[in-house]
Amino acid sequence: MRKLEEVLQDWEAVIGLEVHAELTTLTTKMFCGCKLEFGADPNTHTCPVCLGLPGALPVPNKAAIESIVLAGLATNCDIEKHSMFYRKNYMYPDMSKNFQTTQGPIAFCMRGHLDLEVDGVGAKERIDLGNLKPGETGAADSTAANVTRTEDGYVAHVGITRIHMEEDAGKMVHVGGGEGRIAGATHSLVDYNRAGTPLIELVTEPDLRTPEEARLFMQKLRQIYLAIGISDCSMEEGSLRCDGNVSLRRRGTKEFGTKTELKNMNSFKNLHDGLAYEICRQAEVLEEGGIIYQETRHWDPSKKRTIVMRVKETADDYRLFPEPDLAPYDLSDEFINRVRAKLPELPDEKAQRYADTYGLSAYDARHLVDHRVTANFFEACMDLTQGDLAKPLANLIINDITAHMNADEFFDLPTSPLTPERAVELVKLLADDTISSKQAKQVFTAVLEEDKDPAAIVDERGMKQVSDTGAIEVVVDKVLAENPDKVEQYKGGKKGLLGFFVGQCMKETKGQGNPKVINQLLTQKLGD
Ligand SMILES: [Zn+2]
Repeated sequence: MRKLEEVLQDWEAVIGLEVHAELTTLTTKMFCGCKLEFGADPNTHTCPVCLGLPGALPVPNKAAIESIVLAGLATNCDIEKHSMFYRKNYMYPDMSKNFQTTQGPIAFCMRGHLDLEVDGVGAKERIDLGNLKPGETGAADSTAANVTRTEDGYVAHVGITRIHMEEDAGKMVHVGGGEGRIAGATHSLVDYNRAGTPLIELVTEPDLRTPEEARLFMQKLRQIYLAIGISDCSMEEGSLRCDGNVSLRRRGTKEFGTKTELKNMNSFKNLHDGLAYEICRQAEVLEEGGIIYQETRHWDPSKKRTIVMRVKETADDYRLFPEPDLAPYDLSDEFINRVRAKLPELPDEKAQRYADTYGLSAYDARHLVDHRVTANFFEACMDLTQGDLAKPLANLIINDITAHMNADEFFDLPTSPLTPERAVELVKLLADDTISSKQAKQVFTAVLEEDKDPAAIVDERGMKQVSDTGAIEVVVDKVLAENPDKVEQYKGGKKGLLGFFVGQCMKETKGQGNPKVINQLLTQKLGD
């Protein structure tokens, strides 16, 4: 198979996402009063409504409708005042009602969008930006019509078709087969505790063009859902799930190709890699004259390939019809405004505020709000310094702290030995040249390992950087005197030797000389 970068030269990928989020912060199910509790004993949270027993009548959960309206407002959707529920009929033991209660084409939230900032290596997946200059948007009839060029990448405008309300099914456990699969199982168990859990499904327009854009969309949506507090958004535990539709068309053509649907992309990496694989697979099939079938495929991260799960059902198979037990829903302006008043500061607004208030670059500001804990940590630091040292503190958080978080999944910043007070102290030691940046990295590690203040670590280890010009001058003079031949060569034009002199001085000071001062004195004495 060819590589993604090569395939994308010839083919345009058209990607849409369907994102399910369980409203885990609610206390009860969607249409009954059963408790929502992850990990309870099987079938202990059930009742006639969520088991679908004859005569049981559903009552919608108002808090769940507040949550979906909040999600719609946070993703720039229009809130549809009049909408209704439908029955999506299917027979499978995970839903004993034999239908799922869901919304039709008109849902609570319609016509939204998110803007994605794509930069770094990921921006290279997009090859149709041509000669766009920063600030320019692609021509309306071009493939880059939804894209605006920035200094270090681009912004993609991604449409959201709708966010609709539905309910989750129960959980099947297949016993005796490999990896819990149904194939080879001797029997299956079903737990209805999850049946009827409020679920919202967001459907995007087919506006995404690269796996990186899909990954960033999912990441941004997760940040927003966490900020508004409607779900714990755990991709590992399945409270945030993502399916991707992908098709290819030859560059320069307009007609959509046949799409496949990808399942099981339960991490940002799997989402990216699964889509990348599927794009390359489809290209290979098409280039060999084959046909893409509309089917559902499963991404297997360990084998790094997608496999067919089933041929796709069409909407007709579900016999969708209006739910006779639930009246159509009419949301009042008063209700919508009350929900709007609950909207917290969203990640994009937060990043803008950091840039405006603390003079940070858009890149730094955006990466600080990538995680709620890093944003909170940064704000706690700013409270301590009254807004000073924003840039070096942002660097510490984006580089060192985030790297630590990525390397150790159990690392919990709020309870770690690195408090905002210690972070500020560390950055001050660096800013006033008490320690070098190399030493700062060692102190950072030592704070986490030894749970001590940075100043105490610097004292104990005698780490202080020598910035005293007099003391350094002695060293510089000594190094120059010991290397008369190199001094001659330097004066003769071999300016690269400066690095050699700096290195010798650092060695003489046992790594504690301030490189800034050393550089300054050296160039002075060498007559530059
Ligand atoms: Zn129930």
